[in-house]
Amino acid sequence: MEYGKREMELLQKLNFIRPCGTEEEKRAAQILLEEAQAIGVEARIESFEVDHWTIHKESLVSDGREWEVKGYGLSGSTPEEGITAPFAYVQEATEVDLLDAKGKIVMMNGRIYGEDYAKLVKAGAVGFITFQGNIVDKKEETDLNYMNLFDWNLKAGKIPGVHMRTSDALELVNSKPETVTLTLIQHEGKTSCQNVVADLPGTDPRDQSIVYGAHYDSVPFSHGMYDNGAGSVIIMELLRHFKANPPKRNMRFCWFGGEERGLLGSHAYVKAHEEEMKDISLMINVDVAGPVLGRDVAMCTSEDCLRVATDYMAKEVGFPLKVTQDIYSSDSIPFADKGVPGINFCRFGAQGAANIHNRHDVLEPLDGENLDKTTRFILAFSERMANAVVFPVPHSIPKNIVEKVDKYLKKDDKEKK
Ligand SMILES: [Zn+2]
Repeated sequence: MEYGKREMELLQKLNFIRPCGTEEEKRAAQILLEEAQAIGVEARIESFEVDHWTIHKESLVSDGREWEVKGYGLSGSTPEEGITAPFAYVQEATEVDLLDAKGKIVMMNGRIYGEDYAKLVKAGAVGFITFQGNIVDKKEETDLNYMNLFDWNLKAGKIPGVHMRTSDALELVNSKPETVTLTLIQHEGKTSCQNVVADLPGTDPRDQSIVYGAHYDSVPFSHGMYDNGAGSVIIMELLRHFKANPPKRNMRFCWFGGEERGLLGSHAYVKAHEEEMKDISLMINVDVAGPVLGRDVAMCTSEDCLRVATDYMAKEVGFPLKVTQDIYSSDSIPFADKGVPGINFCRFGAQGAANIHNRHDVLEPLDGENLDKTTRFILAFSERMANAVVFPVPHSIPKNIVEKVDKYLKKDDKEKK
């Protein structure tokens, strides 16, 4: 368990909450930078700018009762005294739900996914409420997430929103308030985020390189051990291995920041390195690993031949791996959008055996043995790719994958090439 032992040690060092744009995220980047430098390779921090907000006031009041809420970052501000407007529960934001939403503060099921926010704005809602959790949750055992709107939401316009617990949402709807008062005062600006990048030159690169990726940020409340301290420490061991056993092709190792805020680190990376995209033969991404109870999967964001070859190889070396041709919500997406084929390795927790995006994403459900096994397979796979006589993966993205990537990135038809 040579790799697993060191991986657990580095994971311990990253065992703190490290959200995008915070000092803790910077501290985690520094830890990874120093670890890579200690291996003896050239490594650096690449900074980029991200939207940032500071909430000064967030409240929701109905019939004299104040509810516990979190304001949506980047959703704008209300006047100091808030907005008082009729309340409507619009369920799933269907046309029927939204028929009379104009001028109202609307509450909808769950979080704002897909085009729902744009629908609320278009329907003339003046504020929105979402909710999260389970009606049986105990307040002291759960956290109310920090929420924010994304660029693609804001194309529709800006209306202030708050997020509350499902148990409170049930009470609020049951209380049938005529009006609610929503107050949100925030300062919106910019801050810096960063990727950590390490280079390993190949012995006979022929303008070809392999890029490894793993995001090292976490969401607020989460120590992000499974998602994705685990992937971060796995690619560090790959770096260590290939430093000692130089590959033919160039290798670059990227620890991305800001993934949890919408793949911000990898988007910034492909933008800053656009001219290098044609030389990247494969992007190998690792996002979630290590659970004792779990299963290994690989998702090939590439031509189908990589799926077939990886499946053969897993059988050949005796590694239980389910391989599919698909996209995966992680840092391989911006690369695929630039035509770079990718493969995502993950060890998913069995149902209920590993948590993401909450306070339960801790070290305990993981162990070095499982990190080690996943690492060994990715290593064997990488050896073949890095040292292949002719690079076996076509440098193209098939139509079925392009469509999924475009849908994921919410590209309008007119933006498509
Ligand atoms: Zn992740």
